[in-house]
Amino acid sequence: MTPMQTTRRRLAAPFLLVALCLLSACMRAPVQPARPYSPLILISIDGYRADYLKRGLSPTLADLAKTGVRATAMKPSFPTLTFPNHYAIVTGLYPDHNGIVNNRFLDPATGEKFVYTDRQTTDDPHWWGGEPVWVGVERQGKHAATMFWPGSDVAIDGVRPEHWLPYNGKMSPDARVDQALQWLDLPPGQRPDFLTLYFEQVDHAGHGYGPDSTQVDAALREVDAALGRLVAGLKQRGIQDHANIVIVSDHGMTATSESRMVVLDKLVDMRDLTVINAGVVAGLAPKPGHEEQVARALLVPHEHMRCWDKAKIPERLHYGSNPRIPPIVCVANDGWLIETQSYLDRPNHHISLGEHGYDNNDPAMRALFVAHGPAFKRGYVIPEFDNVDVYPLLTHILDIKPAPNDGSIGPVAAALR
Ligand code: AMP
Ligand code: ZN
Ligand code: ZN
Repeated sequence: MTPMQTTRRRLAAPFLLVALCLLSACMRAPVQPARPYSPLILISIDGYRADYLKRGLSPTLADLAKTGVRATAMKPSFPTLTFPNHYAIVTGLYPDHNGIVNNRFLDPATGEKFVYTDRQTTDDPHWWGGEPVWVGVERQGKHAATMFWPGSDVAIDGVRPEHWLPYNGKMSPDARVDQALQWLDLPPGQRPDFLTLYFEQVDHAGHGYGPDSTQVDAALREVDAALGRLVAGLKQRGIQDHANIVIVSDHGMTATSESRMVVLDKLVDMRDLTVINAGVVAGLAPKPGHEEQVARALLVPHEHMRCWDKAKIPERLHYGSNPRIPPIVCVANDGWLIETQSYLDRPNHHISLGEHGYDNNDPAMRALFVAHGPAFKRGYVIPEFDNVDVYPLLTHILDIKPAPNDGSIGPVAAALR
């Protein structure tokens, strides 16, 4: 044996040992297959009243409920309006605490207005309190994509979802689904862990033609077809058994009419107050020195509405501590509206055939909750729960730390696998 050969053999022995060790280690701990892509998709069907599901016009939704979880209803937050409730769902905070106290409101400190349809006003992050899910997702190193959701086009606390589009009501439900599916196709590291989708067609039809109209039925079919397109897209990508889908609405809908009108002028001297909001919920500010006259006129029982001093709103409504809430809040009884004579005298005034915003105990305001996917039981029904409880459910599934909130996972925990 040459000296060279002995050196090689001496070197080879330890290498052999290391290689054997590695091999046995591999055998002890088999290589884990890559975890399947398991995004969480939160979908809102604006104005989808809980009982619409029984109309038989939402087959995809009914199928997801049958093979997943359904709540008998979800209780919206008060007031049962779009922006306060969408933001309550994604922050777990009641409107009183999340800052979006109405669709339109005033900051009494600055006189600034928030008008939900005017991006120039909604774009200012200072309105939006708490931490919406997509901000937590981005902050904690995951990825979010929003195919519309109130607040998702604002840089809340300086953070926007990684993928988002400014709200565009003209974009069809199918086009929204296609955009969401495109985001699912992004490479790992960019593709979203959390997605939202938003559809307003059912709400629009409810306002325009009333909850019992054929137009609402058509909108139910249209949105369900888009959900079908989403489910088919998930199947195509082989992730239908891995994606978790949570489908909610913000509130229900009830029939309204020009013949069910509380006219404020008939109750109070309009020179004594400023009307901040009217409609289903009226927000009123007595003029300085006129507080007593206004209280005598309004803070008494009425046939078709209730009014409260903001400090005395029943606790169950979780409403009244935010400075953005006007001093007096009135809410109409189901199907009634509160207006001023000057509004009704306008030739172009508009009274919808359907409305929401009422007391969140009103059965007509009940919202939708359906959930499906590996996180959820199959064929399980849970009783009604508060919509602020959705936030802790979402953060639990996403495995992110929730921000302080008013919700609790307790009422929905039984639905989890
Ligand atoms: P509501 O008046 O309470 O029925 O509000 C529903 C309406 O809010 C929908 O019909 C949409 O037109 C509008 N909307 C929904 N999301 C947004 C958004 N992100 N930005 C602006 N408007 C929105
Ligand atoms: Zn709405
Ligand atoms: Zn609406």
